[in-house]
Amino acid sequence: NCSKGEEIFSEGILTRFGNIELCPSSGILNYGQGLFEGLKAYRKEDEGILLFRPEENALRMKMGADRMCMPSPTVEQFIDAVKMTVLANKRWVPPHGRGALYIRPLLMGTGPNLGVKPASEYTFLTYASPVGNYHKSPMNLVVEDKVCRATPGGTGGVKAVPNYSPIYKALTQAKAKGFTEVLFLDALTGRNIEEGSACNIFILKGNVISTPTVHGTILPGITRKSVIEIASTLGYQVEERNVPIEEVFDAEEVFCTGTAMVLKSVVSITYQGKRIEYKMGEETVAQKLHATLTGIQTGLIEDKMGWTVEVD
Ligand code: PMP
Repeated sequence: NCSKGEEIFSEGILTRFGNIELCPSSGILNYGQGLFEGLKAYRKEDEGILLFRPEENALRMKMGADRMCMPSPTVEQFIDAVKMTVLANKRWVPPHGRGALYIRPLLMGTGPNLGVKPASEYTFLTYASPVGNYHKSPMNLVVEDKVCRATPGGTGGVKAVPNYSPIYKALTQAKAKGFTEVLFLDALTGRNIEEGSACNIFILKGNVISTPTVHGTILPGITRKSVIEIASTLGYQVEERNVPIEEVFDAEEVFCTGTAMVLKSVVSITYQGKRIEYKMGEETVAQKLHATLTGIQTGLIEDKMGWTVEVD
């Protein structure tokens, strides 16, 4: 816990998973003053446990805290809390190659505030849950041209709690029609692709991999950043730029990235009733990038980038 002004979080304590008490007039409940993160712990073949780029999550939370007028834990406090959570739940880290322990850090205004203003007290907590691998099922995207996920000047570039429930409706309706994910367009022109509800997007044509620029409306995904670096190392030309929806029709491959899904191929995109299909399978660039990324994350491939952190 921390009071605004002190900017120092007291030492963390470990408690059993359970309900927490919140003041009815807390900032998180009334005004959505909260941020979260998501990262994974993977078991290596030799039983060791690896975290993937946890300092990136800590830095993203710091950036978001500034946007949401909250104090944030230091990078060290953040990583210590994550490690403590993983160690306490070691038996729940799935066997090598069979999934991961997903860790959810949460920062929120817990002090009372009736008026519209930053809370006077804050809580940082982390919890965890084992998750399986679910990259095998292909994605069918539908382009959403009515609901905007983020607007310039808003909070789309940070992992703010209030970013997510406004897209439930679009997502629920898309799922009811058999789609797996929604692809949002930019709010200003409605012509450029942005991202999914919880993933970034890439398109491939020839040797060129393109992905929308992060400039405040797209979440700067840690998987996105890692895939850009891996693809460049493997000899692909990676372009971060505005990607008009028309280019999506012309792409050979499309894939999405995120901590939960890691890297998933998109089998089709539907836009205004028109469905475009993409290359899938073992021979794709997406598959190659997936193999390298998961190899590093699970300790199968030497981590030359220094991305993984041992937990013990
Ligand atoms: N965009 C949004 C809106 C997300 O919620 C996520 C998941 N954190 C991502 C992209 C992917 O980011 P990351 O690779 O850091 O998980």
